[in-house]
Amino acid sequence: MLDSRPASILVAAAMPAPIIRREPIDHSLLSSLRQLLGDRLATSAAICAQHGKDESYHAPHAPDAVAFARSTDEVAAIVKLCSERGTPVIAFGAGTSLEGHVAALAGGICVDLSQMNRILHVNAEDLDATVEAGVTRKQLNEHLRDTGLFFPIDPGADATLGGMAATRASGTNAVRYGTMRENVLALNVVLADGRVIRTARRARKSAAGYDLTRLFVGSEGTLGIITEVSVRLYGIPEAISAAVCGFPTIEDAVNTVILTIQSGVPVARIELLDEAQIAAINKYSKLDYKVAPTLFFEFHGTARGVVEQAETVETIAAECSGDDFRWATTPEERSKLWQARHDAYYAALAQRPGSKGWATDVCVPISRLAECISETKRDLASSLIPSALVGHVGDGNFHLVFMIDPNRPEEVAEASRLNDRMVARALAMEGTSTGEHGVGYGKMEFLVDEHGEGVDVMRSIKQALDPRNILNPGKIVHIGLPVPASAV
Ligand SMILES: Cc1cc2nc3c(=O)[nH]c(=O)nc-3n(C[C@H](O)[C@H](O)[C@H](O)COP(=O)(O)OP(=O)(O)OC[C@H]3O[C@@H](n4cnc5c(N)ncnc54)[C@H](O)[C@@H]3O)c2cc1C
Repeated sequence: MLDSRPASILVAAAMPAPIIRREPIDHSLLSSLRQLLGDRLATSAAICAQHGKDESYHAPHAPDAVAFARSTDEVAAIVKLCSERGTPVIAFGAGTSLEGHVAALAGGICVDLSQMNRILHVNAEDLDATVEAGVTRKQLNEHLRDTGLFFPIDPGADATLGGMAATRASGTNAVRYGTMRENVLALNVVLADGRVIRTARRARKSAAGYDLTRLFVGSEGTLGIITEVSVRLYGIPEAISAAVCGFPTIEDAVNTVILTIQSGVPVARIELLDEAQIAAINKYSKLDYKVAPTLFFEFHGTARGVVEQAETVETIAAECSGDDFRWATTPEERSKLWQARHDAYYAALAQRPGSKGWATDVCVPISRLAECISETKRDLASSLIPSALVGHVGDGNFHLVFMIDPNRPEEVAEASRLNDRMVARALAMEGTSTGEHGVGYGKMEFLVDEHGEGVDVMRSIKQALDPRNILNPGKIVHIGLPVPASAV
């Protein structure tokens, strides 16, 4: 069970390992789950350990068992059994989240959705698809290949649609196509007591009651377990081209972004990489970009439209001292470029072998982006911890990765200090503590500063939907302890 101190103290004192006390697992629960799932209930230490960790430096916390569900009915039955005993239930997609989201802080049962990987319907005429929660974004796009349609949300990692909905994910394409918030049409959700709801129909708009879809999008498994996701699809553009441009300073690069967005150029991707990140990807992906703050662009549209967009941006970049605007028009060149961008995190970590990544992101209104990034870079320049900066800057969103040795408390403390300052800076600029990675337990301490009494409303919603606090306890809002059966 969780320590009863306020979340902020708990998280700050506990980084990277929160203080926990867990109830021993109820063996009758394991027997019932085994009856339901057979050998799809795993209790081996290796499988449990794998399900208690994400891709970040956060300390892992293994669940007591992992249930590999294959249907909504099975998820409902698992949750009902856990609910009767007050046992925590943690949903797990691909485990690529970055803020300790899947850590089983109070033990319990991890529900792995990866075997719920059927694509249920593709409605090409309506430009939508419904999939089970364990379908990954690459799997969906592979399935759509011959339809002329695609699903644009692209968090780099091959995450599941359920996990992406649960974290309100976005990524490189969000500047043009939006985030999961804009692209999820409806969800099937198993509630904390085992009931199953559908949050909306397939209609593109609806004014019928509270917007439950958006309540569950971004709820990180704390309000319900998503078993089906209906999403918007888009026609594959007639023409796509990409370009790369280096700049003398990061301010020049960011000013190019701001002017591009303010000019209304509908860029599909506009990504910033600082000089440390470019040096890292040059080495990791065997590229030869000039080591300088750099923008990667992608343009979608008609053949003529794409050329027009690229020429406008080239002119803006030149006005901001950009040099060597390099085009990547063949699919091979483009995929090399974007693969390098997607590998940026691992390229940064490879710069310091054995290090773990403390990945963090903030998002500010685009007009404040240059100021926010410049101040952040000044902070980094006076620190000895290696770091790299990348950003989906068209949205005002950027990320830092600190390459730290989590066993050295001074490095953890320094990364924590820099992270605190970056978040405080973003909040002071009317931005947010996380543009897309989410809260997990890593960013809980910032929510009160960001939302004030809104956090009380979040807590009320959590208590109404999950009164015993069994769904991913210890994440997003601090509630207290899961309520064991003996207390009811
Ligand atoms: C290299 C790298 C790059 C990344 N880049 C981006 C990026 O650009 N943009 C971005 O948004 N993110 C990014 N991420 C973070 C990550 O990929 C996203 O958060 C992703 O959406 C997580 O999906 P997942 O399937 O891995 O979920 P998991 O990590 O398995 O779970 C994440 C959270 O969602 C909950 N959850 C999972 N499935 C369900 C479900 N079916 N129902 C209810 N709750 C569920 C879990 O309990 C947990 O709280 C990146 C990660 C890595 C490693």
